[in-house]
Amino acid sequence: MSLIVVGTMAFDAIETPFGKSDRIIGGAATYISWSASNFTRPIHQVSVVGGDFPESELNALQERGVQIDGVQIKKDEKSFFWSGRYHLDMNTRDTLDTQLNVLADFDPVLPESYKNAEFLMLGNLVPAVQLKVISQLQQKPKLTVMDTMNFWMDTALDDLKKVIQQVDVLMVNDSEARQLSGEYSLVKAARAIMNMGPTYLVIKKGEHGALLFHGNQVFFAPALPLEEVFDPTGAGDTFAGGFIGYIAQTKDISFDNMKNGIIVGSAMASFCVEKFGTERLKEISKADIDARIKEFVQLVNFDINLI
Ligand code: AMP
Repeated sequence: MSLIVVGTMAFDAIETPFGKSDRIIGGAATYISWSASNFTRPIHQVSVVGGDFPESELNALQERGVQIDGVQIKKDEKSFFWSGRYHLDMNTRDTLDTQLNVLADFDPVLPESYKNAEFLMLGNLVPAVQLKVISQLQQKPKLTVMDTMNFWMDTALDDLKKVIQQVDVLMVNDSEARQLSGEYSLVKAARAIMNMGPTYLVIKKGEHGALLFHGNQVFFAPALPLEEVFDPTGAGDTFAGGFIGYIAQTKDISFDNMKNGIIVGSAMASFCVEKFGTERLKEISKADIDARIKEFVQLVNFDINLI
């Protein structure tokens, strides 16, 4: 059941209409692993941090069954830093600052024990680094899932397209799907993106849920209507972690099981937004997760008699 998670481990500074954080722990791989480790262990993490990244955070992940042999620690350098400001709707945000720091010349080296992993989660990261990870694997994973963002569409589109060609499931948000495909209609965008390589496409729509496309089939999962959204940062990564964690746990890569994965991902993301950073993900239990998944079942379940 081995799963490789690749992505940033970072410091974030977040502003929402309701509050502002100091530098807090973030990064795509951080959120993915906190989320996925509820469903599958061990997780083989691939990332890079500077000497400023707290050892206590690495220890906490290890206690969750996340192996960090593939996390490089560059003692004399600074960790990746990202800062963003959310708009009033909490669905859209502006990136205020992206400092690559250790990420600028990151050359991932996969430990031997990672090389036969069954599942690969390529979290948001430099596309060239995602490619280097794929090239070190000894066998093609059962399922490769990739998450990315507009930053890489703007700065590394050619490499990004090379990675997209090699993955089974791509996850992007609605504006990124439009940017990547040049199509406004999400159905047309999905078709165009699936023609670039992936057999499955997930389009995330923030508080409006997520769509899963495969051939001519579409599945929709709502987001849980929450009274308060405190901080949406990491929701997409947490969603990805729940999805791949559940798929790795069940080992079933059928479209029908991916629908369940989308619901599990949505449930995990609904926790993430309840507090700043990874705080909420660190406190939830299996009972909390099960109860939340049941709320999703209630949300979408109905009987109709057509007369
Ligand atoms: P999400 O809200 O799911 O899009 O993820 C936000 C997380 O992604 C933050 O914790 C950031 O540290 C991280 N992040 C932001 N920009 C980038 C980027 N260009 N590449 C990789 N990770 C990023």
